[in-house]
Amino acid sequence: MTTKVCGKCKTEKPLDDFHMSRHHSYGRCPRCKACSVRTGEKNSWEAMRHRCKGLRADHKKYYADRGITVCHRWQNSFDAFLADMGTKPTPQHQIDRIDNDGNYEPSNCRWATRSTQERNSRNCKLSHEDIPAMFKMRGHGLPYSRIAAKFGCAPTTVVSILKGKKWKDISLPLMAARQAKS
Ligand SMILES: [Zn+2]
Repeated sequence: MTTKVCGKCKTEKPLDDFHMSRHHSYGRCPRCKACSVRTGEKNSWEAMRHRCKGLRADHKKYYADRGITVCHRWQNSFDAFLADMGTKPTPQHQIDRIDNDGNYEPSNCRWATRSTQERNSRNCKLSHEDIPAMFKMRGHGLPYSRIAAKFGCAPTTVVSILKGKKWKDISLPLMAARQAKS
């Protein structure tokens, strides 16, 4: 026997299309490689939608009550989510919302590990001139991730600055000037 039927997509495929597993029939995993590679991403997608439904009290407090939602494109299609996010670099990666007050949508999400996020923020060295430049870039509609890449810091740092939570001596007057204009 050189083929096996995948338990997920129900397609008959050559044994080489299944990962090795001593615990299953023919010494191979029940799901084909194409189906199992998506498991981690699918779990993240399902967990994200579940959190935003707010069925559990702690989820409701942190997501639904704060108005955090999953964008329409991702809400209805795992394939769209996977196309936008790509596959997880490692199983340890999880969905990270760059702006913690923002929604689950392509411009605000990335795969990240806890340690990467912390390392990014420690290595960031900004100068006084960088802060007005960041505000200007955001004013031109650039996403946080692009601004962060330009200054070599974490997108979460950019969000904190643009919200006046970091570099307050410069960011708060800039925010006030911006509000006075609009
Ligand atoms: Zn399959």
